[in-house]
Amino acid sequence: MSPLLEVRDLHVRYEARGGTIRAVDGVGFSLARGEVLGVVGESGCGKSTLGRAILRLVEPAAGTIVFDGEDITRLDRRGMVARRRDMQVVFQDPFGALNPRHRVGEIVGEPLVVHRVGDRASRAARVAELLELVGLPPDAARRHPHEFSGGQRQRIAIARALALEPRLLVADEPVSALDVSIQSQVINLLSDLRARLGLSMVFISHDLSVVRHVSDRIAVMYLGRIVEIGAAAEVFDAPAHPYARALLSAVPHVDPSRRRDRILLQGEMPDPAHPPGGCAFRTRCPAAEPRCAASAPALAARRIAGAPPREAACHLLEAA
Ligand code: ADP
Repeated sequence: MSPLLEVRDLHVRYEARGGTIRAVDGVGFSLARGEVLGVVGESGCGKSTLGRAILRLVEPAAGTIVFDGEDITRLDRRGMVARRRDMQVVFQDPFGALNPRHRVGEIVGEPLVVHRVGDRASRAARVAELLELVGLPPDAARRHPHEFSGGQRQRIAIARALALEPRLLVADEPVSALDVSIQSQVINLLSDLRARLGLSMVFISHDLSVVRHVSDRIAVMYLGRIVEIGAAAEVFDAPAHPYARALLSAVPHVDPSRRRDRILLQGEMPDPAHPPGGCAFRTRCPAAEPRCAASAPALAARRIAGAPPREAACHLLEAA
């Protein structure tokens, strides 16, 4: 079956005081129906910009986004509004996303009103169904967002995002603002909804242990590019790219006998407006060689010892 989402050579730029920031600099991947892709990397590597660009909440400078076989890259506003029924987003800060003056029932049901789905009675029934789906009591509909805890507010935001039965959910740091004890409840809810509704997800998080729980595949980003992408278990177990290895060395291994040594990155994150030429990671790479300055490595299948080939962007890994 064709993928639900295909992103090809996507570029997003911001004009900042220090110069042009290539926040997303040639990203490509595909997402199968029902699949969850985790996107990880340090703050500022372009995860959020990528998530927003997929939904055209920020405009790409170049590249192509194909959703369910349709090129949506140049759809006009009206076309995009219609398409967005199928593509929803949940952000980190559930309070910012919920209008404090509205009752929860209005907040969750608003997308139904905007898209003129059903009548008042059927919308109220759908809101009740959605509240139940995310584990909130029926009387939540009559209350206001401030009466709820952070975790419950994120459930409200998820219920609203699911109102139109989207096929793609972009979850941008959906649990980062929550207490650790609440995080796993919301993660479990998302996994459960994914299984029940067949949702595809792009799951963005700087927290690797969160991403690990929900993702089928993982994409590791550095300075606007994917440096490695592959099956979650394989990337977590044996990251190939030197940046992925360093990033993942901070996460405890599920098997304590296979604990990895922590790899500390050298130096600072480069100025995103003036990234190093060649491989952008070379200034912090423990294994960099002169050839790493000469050209940027392509994201391509590379040979991995004792494992299937992996897509990684590193000159030091042999092409498979
Ligand atoms: P992440 O989600 O991985 O933290 P972002 O996508 O938020 O990364 O940011 C990527 C880069 O783009 C960073 O260098 C950030 O400072 C810059 N950036 C993000 N949003 C804007 C904006 N609205 N204007 C200018 N620069 C931005």
